[in-house]
Amino acid sequence: MSATHPPFEIGAPLAGLIVPLDRVPDPVFAQKIVGDGVSIDPTSGELLAPMAGEVVQLHGAHHALTLRADNGVELLIHVGIDTVMLRGEGFAPLVHVGDRVERGQPLLRFDVDALAARARSLLTQIVVANMDAVTAIETCRGVVAAGAPLMRLTLAAAAPAASVAAGASPGAAESVQGDAVVLPNAQGLHARPAAVLAAAAKRYKSEIRLVRGGDEANAKSVVALMGLATRQGQSVHLTATGPDAAEAVAALARLVGQGCGEAAGTAAAASVAAAPAPATTVSAAADAGQLVGVSASPGLAVGSVVQLRELAIEVHEQGENPARERGRIEAAIHEARAQIEALIDPHAQSARAEILAAHLELLDDPDLLDQAIAGTSRGQSAAWAWREAYSGFALRLEGLDNALLRERASDIRDIGRRVLALLAGVQTSRLDIPAGSILIAEELSPSETAQIDRSKVLGFATTGGGATSHVAILARSLGIPAVCAVAEAALAIPEGTRVVLDGTRGLLHGNPSADELAAARARLARQAARRAEEASGAAAPAVTRDGHRIEVVANVRNAAEAAEAVQQGAEGVGLLRSEFLFEDRDSAPSEAEQAAAYEAVAHALGRQRTLVIRTLDVGGDKPLSYLPLPREDNPFLGLRGIRVGLDRPELLRAQLRAILRAAPHGHLHIMFPMIASVDEFIAAKAIALEAMAETGQHAKVGAMIEVPAAALLADVIAREADFFSIGSNDLTQYTLAMDRGHPKLARQADALHPAVLKMMALTVEGAHRHGRWVGVCGGIASDTLAVPLLIGLGVDELSVSVPAIAAVKAAVKRVSRSDCEALAREVLAMGTAQAVRARLSALAE
Ligand code: PEP
Ligand code: MG
Repeated sequence: MSATHPPFEIGAPLAGLIVPLDRVPDPVFAQKIVGDGVSIDPTSGELLAPMAGEVVQLHGAHHALTLRADNGVELLIHVGIDTVMLRGEGFAPLVHVGDRVERGQPLLRFDVDALAARARSLLTQIVVANMDAVTAIETCRGVVAAGAPLMRLTLAAAAPAASVAAGASPGAAESVQGDAVVLPNAQGLHARPAAVLAAAAKRYKSEIRLVRGGDEANAKSVVALMGLATRQGQSVHLTATGPDAAEAVAALARLVGQGCGEAAGTAAAASVAAAPAPATTVSAAADAGQLVGVSASPGLAVGSVVQLRELAIEVHEQGENPARERGRIEAAIHEARAQIEALIDPHAQSARAEILAAHLELLDDPDLLDQAIAGTSRGQSAAWAWREAYSGFALRLEGLDNALLRERASDIRDIGRRVLALLAGVQTSRLDIPAGSILIAEELSPSETAQIDRSKVLGFATTGGGATSHVAILARSLGIPAVCAVAEAALAIPEGTRVVLDGTRGLLHGNPSADELAAARARLARQAARRAEEASGAAAPAVTRDGHRIEVVANVRNAAEAAEAVQQGAEGVGLLRSEFLFEDRDSAPSEAEQAAAYEAVAHALGRQRTLVIRTLDVGGDKPLSYLPLPREDNPFLGLRGIRVGLDRPELLRAQLRAILRAAPHGHLHIMFPMIASVDEFIAAKAIALEAMAETGQHAKVGAMIEVPAAALLADVIAREADFFSIGSNDLTQYTLAMDRGHPKLARQADALHPAVLKMMALTVEGAHRHGRWVGVCGGIASDTLAVPLLIGLGVDELSVSVPAIAAVKAAVKRVSRSDCEALAREVLAMGTAQAVRARLSALAE
């Protein structure tokens, strides 16, 4: 038995804000594929050794190095994201491989400002590269000084000698040498492709080595792979010894040949890194010229590439006199406001209008202005002081433990840059975007996305972002295909190149042949014809082939969306997410303000269409600043939805009165979110009944079924409720115990899981026994693949996203209820969501 080690302290190599690794905008770090640790958003530019040890690797681009301590711990320090692209520019190394360094000794220098202008991010990752050497990592939080304690590692009983020890015992020895492979990666195997390769290699039991000339490295060690200092075009091969050697060599050679997820013309980083899949899956997804990313917005487009790059804005620190600099800031803010106001079109997509309105609000932020003015008083130029002020603001928000506030940081940077560009007299956005363009960029800011001219831009691909990013949400609301987290090779596609963007599958085909272009155009034409046909029938009711009517209604957030829904053929609104009225403000809306907003939605629908207003569904992950709720360990299991309403009855009462005041203008229903028990429903309904007595108005009162307990007791709740609507998003999360926003669980958290389907079946059964109707308002209702199954389960109403209305109605018309019922019986006996999806896909073909 080995003795346990005392904790091993790691110092901060830089001063700055400590950022959890999962917030780093690079999946190999965020998902800890390279190793566990933290990131620092640096304010100093001299990298200090976080521990004593030997420099075992220093990348040729000088942006990353690895130290090995005497106890075997290997620490990788990676300055910035994608800084390998800078090829060493801006970095001055102070040590060499093989040097012994003491903790606190300077390792390299870089110019923070110069780098900030060129790098995608300066976030610097400090990660343990040989995680088998440690059993636990404790990290500090907040702002840290260079050299101060950063992490404490609990060492494994016997720390293995890292790079060589990562391989498992070879078992029944079979030795295999693979064929030579030419490395396609422009920067060789730097951190990201090395991490992808090491993660794939670790799935095999064999000892695996990557060989280049006379050098070789353990393929399971990121550090060792980087230490090979490989370059594009070099010939390498794999060797393996162990029970699965042949399989490992074949699969990994394919992965290396395809660039380990990042080379041009092969499978890309995002898909590999986001969900490290067996190498065979990677190769199956690969196809020459295809760059893989994450689907951000569905659809297909064929167009010409326009590359967008964020220009570095140079500013001088020294100002003239404070009053003049201050005047400049105010004038630039004024001008920025005018620019944004000119972009706000009252008839525009609401998501775009909301973002621009939020930017206007940020421009008015007194603290931001005060801080910038304070800078000018210290002698700084307007541009310098403004940049310091907004960057500091954004940095603070990014460090908060609140997803919503963190999101605002990108808006602050966005609006900050708009003003900065005006101050510096720089034109940042391109005005000459021709029709038929597909935009490619590292990132698009929310306001850039909001300014996209749909008549010219057919779609876009970004190397940053993800499916849940702001930009992805905007792309969906604009109805244009978009792919996020696409391989970096996309940035090198020459302007004007014809490409195919497949937003549905998350692919950018950068080099399509004439045949492929023709096939994509034919697919587009077929899709357009289908959409036109669906749209032409969208006004008519959705009736199955055997005469069963399904109500197809919409999920909306405000009157503008309700009007759009009606235009698209919605027969009503099955879910008005009333949160929109409560967000982004300092206090709750008054009863009168709410009543006016509900009345506006009711007018948009007309009296004959049902309007189901869900009472406020906040709490947990959706905080309201003016409704302080205690911090919770498990926010999704805490005060959420109706629990907040019952905890703050005055808030619920005011909302119910407001809904009832609007009742004479439409056909309004009240719906309570997150009902988990009949008691809760009865208590909430009692408040509704009081409000009805006070206002003299009446409305039906329903429950959302989104908690398994409510589904299991639907029969009991149905005696009290007038109707049900199944919130499949939450019902899936609670049935499967999978966070609905978890990036790694996104594929598994599928509402088509048979366990979730059984919950829906029970809900329908319980409701129909008491003559109540059941809708589905979660995302699954908008998936045309699922429509036959939902009909078969007996659902009466589908409440769908506005763009899906026509397609869902068409899907209803294609099937017969009796076939759907047989399908539901068959599917309910299945064991996995994959099996259900496969069955539904076969049906759709
Ligand atoms: C749901 O949970 O399915 C639902 C419709 O509610 P929300 O997505 O607003 O939580
Ligand atoms: Mg919900």
